[in-house]
Amino acid sequence: MPSLEQLLAQVGSHREEMVEALSELIRIPAIGPESGGSGELERSRYLRDILDHSKFDDVEMYDALDERVRLRLRPNIIARRRGKADQTVWIVAHMDTVPPGDLSAWSTPPFSPRLVDGKLYGLGAEDNGQAIISGLFAAETLMSTGVELERGLGIALVADEEAGNEKGIRFLLQEGVFKPGDIIFVPDHGTPRGDEVEIAEKHILWLKFTVTGRQVHASRPDLGINAMRVGSELIVFLQEFLQRKYGERDPLFTPDRSTFEPTKRLQTVGNVNTIPGEDVFYFDCRVLPRYDLDAVQSDITAITDIFEQKTGARIRVEPVQLTRSGRPSDPEGEGMRALRWAVQRVLGVEPRPVGIGGGTCANFFRLAGMDAYVWQTIEELAHQPNEYCVIDNLVNDAKVYATVLAALCCGSQFKA
Ligand SMILES: [Zn+2]
Repeated sequence: MPSLEQLLAQVGSHREEMVEALSELIRIPAIGPESGGSGELERSRYLRDILDHSKFDDVEMYDALDERVRLRLRPNIIARRRGKADQTVWIVAHMDTVPPGDLSAWSTPPFSPRLVDGKLYGLGAEDNGQAIISGLFAAETLMSTGVELERGLGIALVADEEAGNEKGIRFLLQEGVFKPGDIIFVPDHGTPRGDEVEIAEKHILWLKFTVTGRQVHASRPDLGINAMRVGSELIVFLQEFLQRKYGERDPLFTPDRSTFEPTKRLQTVGNVNTIPGEDVFYFDCRVLPRYDLDAVQSDITAITDIFEQKTGARIRVEPVQLTRSGRPSDPEGEGMRALRWAVQRVLGVEPRPVGIGGGTCANFFRLAGMDAYVWQTIEELAHQPNEYCVIDNLVNDAKVYATVLAALCCGSQFKA
């Protein structure tokens, strides 16, 4: 039976292969159709090939139908190694990326990996390539020791995380891939020191407001209804009202309160001397899980009704995104204890449980009644130009997850 030290040394010996695998991943674009991309198919074929040559017992594809992409499918890969118990420990990572944005902001092309000073540059290197590669190597190294698994071990590589999860983790949950009692890890949020485990997320509510007044010449405001003025008053009133009414604080989260922020506003008139007949703006609300989103929405409706009566304008409110948050994961659950122990053992820091403004795949497990823990060591460069992955983080995350899997899947067999 190998010792934990030997297992960690074996993970470390795969450093070059991990860099190579992540480089290859970066070369294969996996952008969703809502951003003009063709999805994850090519990338999934590369990963499928790695998994077919691994020690997993079975590798299955769960293809979600999506009319918007070539071959009309969004691929999800489920790799499993059976254990004695009918319970599985999962590492879940997403294959898709956001688009690169302004190419002139990238100092090297986003799909051409470049290794400089221990950092591998490329789109999706950190979000979520690091998790895919560290998860794969953690699992494969553990399985290569030949130990018998008490619990099963699974890797889920999912599509469509950056734009709603409908063809990804939500699809897999509907398909019944995961079972109550499974323990889930989602390496898709973290800090540079690896000292946070995310166990809770806020509700997410994005709203679009359209205020319709009456457009007139700016010299005759009394003849019209200035939609921008109505909209502006509404923005200030809503923000203050909601912030006060839903004002409880929870130190688990940063920031420790619900937030209700006006964000995007459309230009409706192009000249100075016209009173706008329309005003369009958006709110991004992140609400503590203790509150009911329906109550927030009915308060907003009541307020817009009053504004309509008072001003004569018409106000339409449409949700652009509504994601309820599940019950926070148990901060003393078995998954959390194993993770805390592994992080201490490998990195020498004690991670603390935190909540974030959302959202990761973990939330959908929590909504389904499962505990999910979000941990990795990252520079927090997701969605930025010149995104990179620190190779030490890549290798250390693999060591931490190999330790977690050893503790949960092989229990007593590993000599600590
Ligand atoms: Zn991500």
